[in-house]
Amino acid sequence: MINAGAFRRRLLNWYDGNKRDLPWRESTDFYRVWISEIMLQQTRVEAVIPYFHRFLRRFPSLEALAGAPEADVLTAWSGLGYYSRARNLHKAAKTVVAAGLPASYDEIRALPGIGPYTAAAIASIVFGEAHAAVDGNVVRVVSRLTNGSGEASKEAARLLDTRRPGDFNQAMMELGATVCGPRTPRCEDCPVLALCAGRAAGRERELPVKTAKPAARDVSLDLLILMKKNAVFLIRRDLSEKRLAGFYELPELKHFPEIKTEPAGSFRHRIVNDRFLVRIWRAAARGKSASKGYWLTAEQLTEIPLTTIARKALHSVHNLSGGAALDY
Ligand code: SF4
Repeated sequence: MINAGAFRRRLLNWYDGNKRDLPWRESTDFYRVWISEIMLQQTRVEAVIPYFHRFLRRFPSLEALAGAPEADVLTAWSGLGYYSRARNLHKAAKTVVAAGLPASYDEIRALPGIGPYTAAAIASIVFGEAHAAVDGNVVRVVSRLTNGSGEASKEAARLLDTRRPGDFNQAMMELGATVCGPRTPRCEDCPVLALCAGRAAGRERELPVKTAKPAARDVSLDLLILMKKNAVFLIRRDLSEKRLAGFYELPELKHFPEIKTEPAGSFRHRIVNDRFLVRIWRAAARGKSASKGYWLTAEQLTEIPLTTIARKALHSVHNLSGGAALDY
């Protein structure tokens, strides 16, 4: 069993001297910590940083977020993916503005879109509540530390430093992100090397034992960029859709069998288990070739929630054509 006292000391000393300078670490303000934790779900730190700055500029307070139309929130989130996070954030902001700031783990956990990991991270950082935040990174680190024995979440809770729970949770995440990475743990730089049973057994790369993932599915998508002067034709996903409800996207080519097109490139995109091959086709609109949709200029495209596939397609056409009306 790992010596918990020695582990905490080593980990927190290392964190104090080596933690990355991340914008959400500037304060323990509930709003900032909350936004960062939601953005960091399923998204890398480097990708989150510019969105975090932009989002806070656009919605500098809980009240500003709660009072904004949902479309504005989705637009600010556009490109980060997993849009239910933005919708829940918006709903939760309204709840908090109406009912007051949450003051404990249980009250945070009751907000829309907040699971046990996020609630533990926020409660420990903002309120100093002793809850271990256990996500995939922490499970990996703990599995290696214990050489796969016992339940990782129970061991993480036992190791937690109850005097500095927020720093401890962030230190565990930092260790998983910067030293004990999924493929190549850098054990020689690890502050808890002397306590690591997985490394001592030479099993650090095998742990945690992986469960089989469902097979990936290949999906082909042919999208049409239909232009009229400097506007492009987009359709809007129905508000009843499970995914990306209300987002704007490019129409599929199959809905325009009569139109004369030219190929305009292709790219790959992955959403969970779906591997998309997206082929782009370009055409100039003549007469009434499209009616159930929206003609939007480059400027208007910056003001609407746009799917990531549509965004990539429009950018790749811009790159191919050497820059024109779609440079937004
Ligand atoms: Fe991970 Fe290696 Fe540190 Fe063990 S010694 S926690 S395997 S980086």
